[in-house]
Amino acid sequence: MIGKCHALSSCCFHTIVDASLLLPAGNLLEQSSFLTPKEIAAFKTIGLSTYGDLLMHLPKRHEDRRQFDAFPVMPTAHAVCLRGMVIDARSMRFSSSYAAYEAIILNGSGGVFGSNKITCRWFNMPFLSKMLAAGHEVIVYGKVKDFKGKLVIDHPEFEIIRDEGAESIHVDRIVPIYKNVSGIAQRRLREIQHLLLHRVNPASFAFPIDVSPGRDRFADLRLAHFPEDLAEAQQARRRFALEEFFALQLNVVWRRARHFDVAGRVLGRKTTLLKAFYESLPFDLTGAQKRSIKEILADMRSPRPMNRLLQGDVGSGKTFVAMAAMLLAIDSGCQAALMAPTQILAEQHYLTFRKWLAPLGVRLSLRTGNREEQSHAHEEGDAQIIIGTHALLYDASAFPDLGFVVIDEQHKFGVSQRARLISHGVKPDVLVMTATPIPRTLTLTLYGDLDVSVLDERPANRGKVITALRKDPKITDITAFLKQHLTEGRQAYLVYPLVEESETVKAESATEAFAKWQKRLKPHSTGLLHGKMSAEEKEQTMQAFRAGEIHALVSTTVIEVGVDVPNANIMIIHHAERFGLAQLHQLRGRIGRGEHKSYCILLTDSKTPEALEKLQALVDSHDGFVIAEVDLRLRGPGDVLGTAQSGIADLKFADFLADPTLLREARALADEVIARDPHLDQQHAALRPWISEELALREQRD
Ligand code: ADP
Ligand code: MG
Repeated sequence: MIGKCHALSSCCFHTIVDASLLLPAGNLLEQSSFLTPKEIAAFKTIGLSTYGDLLMHLPKRHEDRRQFDAFPVMPTAHAVCLRGMVIDARSMRFSSSYAAYEAIILNGSGGVFGSNKITCRWFNMPFLSKMLAAGHEVIVYGKVKDFKGKLVIDHPEFEIIRDEGAESIHVDRIVPIYKNVSGIAQRRLREIQHLLLHRVNPASFAFPIDVSPGRDRFADLRLAHFPEDLAEAQQARRRFALEEFFALQLNVVWRRARHFDVAGRVLGRKTTLLKAFYESLPFDLTGAQKRSIKEILADMRSPRPMNRLLQGDVGSGKTFVAMAAMLLAIDSGCQAALMAPTQILAEQHYLTFRKWLAPLGVRLSLRTGNREEQSHAHEEGDAQIIIGTHALLYDASAFPDLGFVVIDEQHKFGVSQRARLISHGVKPDVLVMTATPIPRTLTLTLYGDLDVSVLDERPANRGKVITALRKDPKITDITAFLKQHLTEGRQAYLVYPLVEESETVKAESATEAFAKWQKRLKPHSTGLLHGKMSAEEKEQTMQAFRAGEIHALVSTTVIEVGVDVPNANIMIIHHAERFGLAQLHQLRGRIGRGEHKSYCILLTDSKTPEALEKLQALVDSHDGFVIAEVDLRLRGPGDVLGTAQSGIADLKFADFLADPTLLREARALADEVIARDPHLDQQHAALRPWISEELALREQRD
């Protein structure tokens, strides 16, 4: 088996003939004769308990140690890999809590031109003085920067080179670099992996299905660790990425199948309320709104339970689609609930709903965590539409007959929270809404179990939004501009990245700025809104802003999602470079909601190309999907999706999320498996443990 692995025949994998001497991949690390108890404990700390687990701890990168970078003569944008000799090393103490260890490294081949030395610095890592000293030959890896005219690398990754034999796995080849395992040196980790690749029985290193027919899995594993060239390693990693994404899609497809297992309700036969609602609206719905309502109605009327995502940029009119759908639901006699991620949003939805639906005789109730205020004038249990925050999750008694569920800003909730709300009803129809445009390539991963409706049309009565980037803003110009619009009766948002002054971040805070704007903008009134205020204070401020009593609102990002004040047409974002692209787009969505021309002004004193490119993307486009694609390109999928996305945060191969072919391949495989064996109790029973549904359900019961 190993012998047939031709790609590796030239490297150091020897052919082992007697398979009985090989170790099963499922063996526990404790069973090994070559790991120390300390090493075993270190691996277990990061969740590696078998040989197979350990082998799947793939390198985070490779280093080509056949050829090193030249010692740089100026700062570098990317990390460089240098080989040289430590000629001087010393500890420095700046204060009782702050020390540095510095090592000066001389170019091994004695550079005649330009620099031949570089200084490496590590802060607050005193133990380094015991590891690294003059005379050591080292390889260092890191970004070079200028520190007071000296070229330095701070906290480089490094490895000490010993006398290496010709067969060394540490030099003169492409070398794997692993994510640090605390307590195990990089070199030792490499040796362990190399040993395991020899000793583990390839036949025992299996995945329940073959995702890459024609390629040998163990050969791929070896290439992923010790490749002959980097393309080979990437190709091999792709297999394991495909396996991981398959497992993810299997869960998605499984969830989708389970949702449809039980017949749902048939709703939406009666349309009296919907017609009355349409007649009461002072505007026509957009084509996209009508199309989405039609799609939703078809789902509701079908006995198959609805599981649909409504995706649309801020201001595209999702709330009205949700209202229409909820009216259809309650006209059939059941209750409908809407869950929003913040109290401000829940309250705002409540006010909007009340404005439009109370005249139609609909009974509404609001439930948020802080205020136990229930229905206004209506008995508990009597409400037809219940709006709230997470508080809804813990209040089953409010829902004698929940038939329709809307979840706003879906990405703020986890799968289990969604499941929990749904569990209050008997197979309710579910509509989830999001204003965070996800790059199309990622929809499958995040929302793969949902049908999708898209609001890709802005309501016609909208004023234009003009976005401008200002690099050296004059405060007097901004003030004059603001005052002009405030005098015309408009309102403005002044956004800041921080609440309070910070020692570490050089940026004006909202609280600081508030005092100044109050003076500058007189006689117009200025308000302050941030996350550290109590819910009551926040609500009062928002109320006053909505009512037009506050003209300019100095705020942090608490206004980010869903806040709707059509009269506000100016947004000035200070230190814009500190915000994420998606967040800036969300913020900008607060303006351009009324008929007035709106202005979003991005202020920055940053000069870095990355920051400027990011901000320019907003000037160039108002399409959330386009912006999301740029964000994905600039930051990579791990950071774009980041937190909370269940199943995404822990992906080992998140970098492959940007590869749509791989995603589609994984989905097709999962579809195929579930089609063949819908409950994974027949030929694919081995895949059943890969379904994490039980886990989610348990969480939900807790
Ligand atoms: P979203 O929830 O997608 O951010 P909303 O449903 O809150 O958007 O709508 C944003 C604003 O646009 C609201 O002020 C709403 O009254 C208005 N609006 C919604 N649909 C239309 C339409 N078809 N024509 C005109 N205005 C609309
Ligand atoms: Mg909304």
